Order: sequence, then C-alpha cells, then structure tokens
Amino acid sequence: MVGAGPAGIAAAVSAAECGRSVALLDENSAPGGQIWRGFEVGQHVDHKKGKGSRLPQEWFVRLRLSSVEVIRNCRVFGGGTPDQLLTEVDGQAAEFYGRSIVLATGARERFLPFPGWTLPNVLGAGGLQALVQGCLPIAGKRVVVAGSGPLLLAVAAHLTAQKAKVSMIMEQAATQRVTTFGAALALHPGKLAHAILYRWQTRGIPYRTSAWPLRVNGEEKLESVTYLHAGRQHTIACDYLACGFHLVPNNELASLLGCEIAADTGAVRIDDSQRTTVPHVYCAGETAGIGGLELALIEGQIAGFAAAGFPDRTQSLKAEHARQRRFAVRLEAAFAIRPEIRSIAEAETIVCRCEDVRRKQLEGHTSWRAAKLLTRCGMGACQGRICGAACRFLFNWNPDSQRLPVQPVSIAALMGLSKNPMQAGTIPPAEV
Ligand SMILES: Cc1cc2nc3c(=O)[nH]c(=O)nc-3n(C[C@H](O)[C@H](O)[C@H](O)COP(=O)(O)OP(=O)(O)OC[C@H]3O[C@@H](n4cnc5c(N)ncnc54)[C@H](O)[C@@H]3O)c2cc1C
Repeated sequence: MVGAGPAGIAAAVSAAECGRSVALLDENSAPGGQIWRGFEVGQHVDHKKGKGSRLPQEWFVRLRLSSVEVIRNCRVFGGGTPDQLLTEVDGQAAEFYGRSIVLATGARERFLPFPGWTLPNVLGAGGLQALVQGCLPIAGKRVVVAGSGPLLLAVAAHLTAQKAKVSMIMEQAATQRVTTFGAALALHPGKLAHAILYRWQTRGIPYRTSAWPLRVNGEEKLESVTYLHAGRQHTIACDYLACGFHLVPNNELASLLGCEIAADTGAVRIDDSQRTTVPHVYCAGETAGIGGLELALIEGQIAGFAAAGFPDRTQSLKAEHARQRRFAVRLEAAFAIRPEIRSIAEAETIVCRCEDVRRKQLEGHTSWRAAKLLTRCGMGACQGRICGAACRFLFNWNPDSQRLPVQPVSIAALMGLSKNPMQAGTIPPAEV
C-alpha cells in the first residue's frame, strides 16, 4: 500500500484482517495523511476534521493491532514493473514487491498563479494549516483565506481556533452553486454537521462568494490583497494569504505504473472494486477522485478486500460507496473553477517558480511537453507538482507521459538502485 492516510490505513487493515501480509509505505514519519496528521492513539482531540468522532481512534487502534508493517519516511519515487515500487527510506534505496499494489497517495492543493503570489506569506490554505499545526505562531495575525472548496472553511475554522484574525473567506464559486451544494448536504448529515460547526466557529467572518484574489501587494512580503467581488475591486490588508483552488489528485505514481487517468479530473480510473486499468494495481481515496474522508475510508476498505482476494466482503459497502460517490460528483460540480480565473495570471506573472517561467513564455506552446522542453516549466525541484496543475487549468494541457522519479530522490538512493537493484530492499515481499 502506498500512502498511510485514511484510505491507505483502511486498505491495509482490511487486507491484513483477511490474513494477507501487508506493507504500508508513507513518506511521513507517522501514519495519518493530511487529515489525521499528528493523531495519536489515546489522544483527546476536538471535533474538528472528523476528530472527536471515533473514526481516527478506531482506525489507529485497528492498525496497531494488525500485522501491517508500517514503513515510515519511505518515499515511493517510481516503479519498474506494476508489482515493484522503488523507494527511498531514510536516505537509503529500497525496492518493494507486492502481488497487489494499492495506491492511496491522496491529493494536494491546486494553486493558481496571480501577480505577487510568490511573495513571502502567501501560502496554500492547507499549507498554512499544516504549518500552524506544526509550530508557526499565528495568534493575532490577520489572515485572508481564498480560493475554492470546503477546505477554505475548515482552514478558517482551524486558524480562528488558534487565535488568528481571519478577516475574510473568498470563495470563487457563485452563490447559487454554493447554496445548492449546501442544501444537498442534508443528504449527508455528518458532513452537514461539520459544515455547520465550521460556520459556527467562523461566525462573524465574511464569507464572500464570486470573489477571488487579483493580486498581492507588498515589497518584501505580502501587505494586502486586491480582490474582485461581484464585479468590483477591493483591497484588504493582511499578514497572510492562505489560498487554494480546491484539490487535485496525486496521480503521478499511478500514471507511471501505466494506470489510465481521467483527462477532465486527473483522477485515476477505477472500476467498482477500485481496480485500475493495470492488473493487480488498485487505487483508493483522493487519488481516485476528490470526495472527502468518508469516501476515502470506504474506498480503502473495498480496495483492501479486493486486493486481498476477498471481493465478496465489499458487498456491504457498495450502497454507502455509491452515496459518497454522488457527494463527490456534487462537490466537483459546485467548486469547478470558473473560466474567468484563467485571466488572473498576467503576462509577467511567474507560473513555474522553480524555474522562473512567466505566463508570456508559455503562451503559444501547444502541449505541456513542448512547454517543458522549450521553457523548463515543470523541470525544477517540484517537478511540476504545482505549476503542472496550474498549466492544466490555464492552457488545458495534460501531462503526456510520466517519468521517473515522481518524487524528489537523492542521487545516493538512485545509485544504490542502479548498483544493486535486486538487493537494495531489505524487506521481504509483501502480498499487498
Ligand atoms: C492540504 C490538505 C489539507 C486538508 N485539510 C482538511 C481538513 O482540514 N478537513 C477535511 O475534512 N479535509 C481536509 N483535507 C481533505 C482530506 O485530507 C481528505 O479527505 C482525506 O485525507 C483523504 O484521505 P487519503 O487517504 O485519500 O489521502 P491523504 O490523507 O492525503 O493521504 C495520502 C498519504 O500518501 C502519502 N504519499 C503520497 N505520495 C506518496 C509517495 N510517492 N510515497 C510515499 N507516500 C506518499 C502522503 O504523504 C499522505 O500521507 C485536506 C486535504 C489536503 C490536500
């Protein structure tokens, strides 16, 4: 299993409970993924992020009691054949082989460029949340949260709880779409309860729909944000801008292994047993489509049972799976990025900050590949993880092929593999 977020944990536990030997690989120092980051068994937590429900507690206990081998600090950067994963574990090369592989690599924020976005203190919404969860002092700081999707409200609630002064939440989607989505939450009482809770925690903070940042002002760092709301420009002073335009699936590893990717959403194509188009490779959670925690958990269980060879155990999950999938479709429709946002990046705006490539240098190219070859866009340290999603939105370019490594890897680890590829790993083959 690759990815120890909710989907990967559910898949690993389900397969192990079927008697399979399972290795769960994750680049972080502890399992949990985005939403359960830092969670520990026995810890008292508040209700935010699904915490406070028994969910993380239950899954972490099951994981601890299972035979799953959790491999931490393990970054999967490639695969040679569909049963092989190339990894770097604590700076050392290691290869893993599995009869089946479940990909649960999650999603990341979509960051769209606009003038000034590279100034210090402009951060991804989830990025700022993660920094604050770490150690960044935020009390008393003025924060504007902008972009699109339910994550904005969750981040604003978290920052408010940490005593930040969140002065505005800007949602690019139109009021009608947000209202329709809100009304549909009645079909998902758990999610409705979270939405109400987040809105209660952020009461008094203006939530502007049809609003998005146009530029960030400041010399050395962010000082204010100029934004468009209902056709008029306004400027608001702030210390931080937390900005994310919904999420995009981390599909690079799946693509490298040969799995088909949906051109419109970037999600890995799966059947109703979470099988990808490559035999013995399964996919679950946000990598298979953005749908939230509950969907990730159900898909993880289905993938785990199917990969373990017990597809009949998935039957009881199918109805809830279909319900959560319908929610994912509504989510995608409600927070689809409006075409006007394509124009917020101006000719001089940097699109690829690793290689300092501006929008005007990208205009006129016909594909992502051509743009990469001729401008070095996407060829820097992040390997297009940020600008790739932006270019996909700005220019409708899809990645034509995925190359190794899909994650940054040290030369030492690569040399370890090439010198002695079959003995690099020390872990015996897992069944899943
Ligand atoms: C930045 C961010 C913040 C979010 N905050 C909230 C929130 O506050 N509230 C909320 O309800 N939802 C939030 N979400 C959504 C929530 O994370 C998902 O609904 C849920 O976590 C999906 O679980 P998952 O298992 O599919 O993915 P994830 O939880 O993302 O887990 C994927 C795991 O795979 C690991 N991984 C990825 N690629 C590799 C690789 N190549 N090698 C090794 N490991 C790898 C990742 O590090 C991660 O640990 C957030 C999402 C993001 C991206």
